[in-house]
Order: sequence, then structure tokens, then C-alpha cells
Amino acid sequence: MKTETLVNLVYILSAITFILGFKMMTSPQNARRGNFISAIGMISAIIVTVMLPEVISFTWLLGGVVVGSLVGVLLAYLTPMTGMPQMVGLLNGFGGLASLLVSWAEYHLMPDTTHYRAFVIFLTLMIGAITFSGSVIAWAKLEEKFISGKAVVFKGQHIVNASIVALIVLGGILFTMNPGSGYQIYIAMVVFSLILGVMLVIPIGGADMPVVICLLNSYSGMAACASGFVVINNLLIVAGALVGASGIILTIIMCKAMNRSVANVFFGGFGATTAGQGQIVQGEVKPMSASDAYLVLEAASSVVFVPGYGLAVSQAQHTVRELAELLEKKGCDVRYAIHPVAGRMPGHMNVLLAEANVSYDHLMEMDAINPIMETVDVSVVIGANDVVNPAAREDKSSPLFGMPIIDVDKSRTVIVLKRSMNPGFAGVDNPLFFKQNTRMLFGDAKASIQSLVNEFKGSH
Ligand code: NDP
Repeated sequence: MKTETLVNLVYILSAITFILGFKMMTSPQNARRGNFISAIGMISAIIVTVMLPEVISFTWLLGGVVVGSLVGVLLAYLTPMTGMPQMVGLLNGFGGLASLLVSWAEYHLMPDTTHYRAFVIFLTLMIGAITFSGSVIAWAKLEEKFISGKAVVFKGQHIVNASIVALIVLGGILFTMNPGSGYQIYIAMVVFSLILGVMLVIPIGGADMPVVICLLNSYSGMAACASGFVVINNLLIVAGALVGASGIILTIIMCKAMNRSVANVFFGGFGATTAGQGQIVQGEVKPMSASDAYLVLEAASSVVFVPGYGLAVSQAQHTVRELAELLEKKGCDVRYAIHPVAGRMPGHMNVLLAEANVSYDHLMEMDAINPIMETVDVSVVIGANDVVNPAAREDKSSPLFGMPIIDVDKSRTVIVLKRSMNPGFAGVDNPLFFKQNTRMLFGDAKASIQSLVNEFKGSH
């Protein structure tokens, strides 16, 4: 069999393993196996790719693999679980940068190329550069160290963005028509695309960040797909298209969950942005001790736990499960309400609770739990803030307005576990803390829940 035939055969099998893997990842039971099968497909594809006749020296390849693996392993070890979303954001960006570099290398090798090839080089550089700079900004926003996580909007932003797009399109047409005209147009397009990536992400504020992360993930797939056309590699085209398509599907799902317009997110600054700060919330906060909270929970016959980012920070998932089991033992109905953007990455809460062996039957999506919230005796909010903020329902000037929340305020009593009165990721005040039926149990979530567990155990 010719090497090329063998390579393409393996590519087809690899593509099948990717699709199978994706399918299996839709259920938590099969997800690990799905991941493993896809990984085998990818390794096989890499092995046959290096057998291609174009690969004439292994020195650079091996160097790249060693350096890249070292950096990857180091990053994975040094990044805490709470920093994973930033890391995922950055890795999307590296995908974009890799595609951008492929387009550069290919153009450099053959500047006097065909119109078709120039066009795919243009697409690769554009999507790659947008993905790279957009992801770096998303990373910085999530990191909240270098720039604020808030939406950055200014007058005339839409006109500026539209002008940059027009310049890139013009550059694309000129480049495609005259591929051999030199580096000037190429470099100008890279610069404008990098600026566009920044401009598309800066107007996305706080609570809308998960959507933009999904979108950038999709862009990184599209960039890889376009680079597959440049280097004529079938598997890169298929794998890139799969990532691009699944990223778009996830973006649409997230937009629906957040009640945001897909068009607004796709075009960043082109839609209406939420730059308001919301009403200043004032009132009296009612703190409670762990012993008081125990008495409230002791008397409850239905309890809903609402986990958020603070659960991840304090790593309280195991302790929460212990508390839930103690409540269930005394006949209480316990459920977990999962908001689609709770935490800092899609599925964050599901992953943490699965790690603590919380049964999936106990987890309820926001749409399923909200209609029955009025019948719930006690909602225990564990380090969640934005996803239970009633300003999203009540305050039109709030950046959160329109985002569906878990209606904990409708339950009979709400116990909020957090360390201070600090706002959540979106940086807005939360009127929930001042409601008549809300009590605050201040402290680290894990320590507070442990105190509750001790109270329950001590009472037996
Ligand atoms: P929030 O960020 O709104 O609030 C988390 C709360 O946890 C804070 O108010 C903080 O208060 C508290 N907290 C932190 N550490 C601890 C601790 N050790 N013990 C107890 N409490 C603690 O989280 P939510 O989950 O409610 O909302 C997620 C937000 O993140 C949304 O705005 C979402 O859009 C955004 N986001 C989500 C992503 C995703 O994919 N899921 C990705 C990017 C952003 P205090 O400091 O007082 O303790």
C-alpha cells in the first residue's frame, strides 16, 4: 500500500474516533472512554503524518514536541483547578497562533501562489489572529489581574469595528487577487485582525464571558480547518471543522441559557452591550451562625443546594455531599440546582459534584428547578452570586439584566454561604443578600458546611 493511501485510511479512522468520542462525551458515564478513544485516534493520526514524504527531518519536530510537552505539563501542574478556564482560554489562543504561523510559513515558502491558495492563507491568518488576540484578552479578563472583567464600551465602537472589518476584507481581496505582491498586505491584515480580536472581546462583560470562551474555542477550530486547506491535510480540515461546529453549537446553547442574542456575541461590539452598573443596593443584612443554620436545615423537609464559583474555590464538594446525605437520612428531599454558567467553565459544577460522587439524579437544570422553587423550604447558596442575583430579573440597568437565574429568593428561606459582601464575577451588587427571607452564613464555604455537618453529627 502506498504511504499516502495508508495515511488517508488512518485519517478516516481517526475522524471516526473523533465523532464517536464526541458522542460518548455527551454522557458523564462514557465521557472518559470517549476522550480516550479520540486520543488514540489523534495519536495514530500524528504517527502516520510524520511518515509522509514531506517530513524530511525529525530534528525540529522532536524539538517542538519536547519543548511543547514540557511547557504543557508544567502549565497543567502549576494551574489550580480554579484557573482552568483561563488556561483553556489561553490554549484556544495558542491554536489560533499556530494556524497564523502555518499561514505565514506557507506564504513564505511560496509567495507567488494561486488565487485559491492565497484566499485560504488569508482566511487562516485572519481567523488565527482574531482567535489569538481575542483569547489573550479573554484570558486577561478571566484572570482579572491585568484588565477588569467588565465590558469596555465607547462611543463609535461599532463604526470602528465595522471599519476594521472593511479594511480586512479589502486586504483579503487585494491579497487574493495579487498573491505575489509582497508582505505589506499580509502584515497589514495580521495587524488589523489582531486588533479586531481585541475589539470583539473587550465589549463582552462579566457574566457573558462563558459565551465568548465557547465562541473563541469555535474560532480556533475554524482556524485549524482553514490551515488544513493551506497545507492540504484532510484530517486537519475534519478535526478543525468538528471543533468549529461543536463550538458554535455550544455558543448557541450558552446564548439561549443566558438569554443573549447570538448575533450580538458573534459580532462582539456590533450589538447592544450591557455597560450599566445596576442600582446601588442598600439595606440590612442578616448574618447567622452555623448553629442557627443547622436549626433551619434541621426543620426543613426540602433543601436545594445552589453551587457556584465559591464551591470550586473552597473545594467544598465532598463536604456538601456529606451534608446532603445527613439531610436525606432524616427524610429531607435534597437536590442540587445547576446554573449553566455557574463557576468559571461550562459544566464546572457538574464536574466538581461528579468528583464527589453526587448522583446525577440529584442534579436539576435551572429550567427544571425554577418552577418548583416556591415549594422549597431552604435554598443553600454555596459560593454562588451572579447566578442567583435577582437584579437579572428586576433591574433593567443591571449588566446582568435578562440573564436567567436560579430563583432562590422564591424559596421560603435562603442561606447564603460566602466570605464577605464582595460581588461576584460580574462585579454587581446582589439584592438577594438584603431580602427578608435571606440569611448570610459568612466564612469559607467548606468550613461553614463542615460546621453544619458537625452540628448534625453532634445531635445524634
Ligand atoms: P460568582 O463569581 O458570581 O460568585 C462567586 C462567589 O463565591 C463570590 O461572590 C465570592 O464571595 C464567593 N466565594 C469565593 N470564594 C469562596 C470561598 N472560599 N467560600 C465561600 N464563598 C466564596 O460565581 P457564580 O458561580 O454565581 O457565577 C459565575 C460567574 O462567572 C458568572 O458571572 C458567569 O457568567 C461567569 N463566568 C462563567 C464561566 C463559565 O463558563 N461557567 C466562564 C467565565 C465567567 P466572597 O468573596 O465574599 O467569598
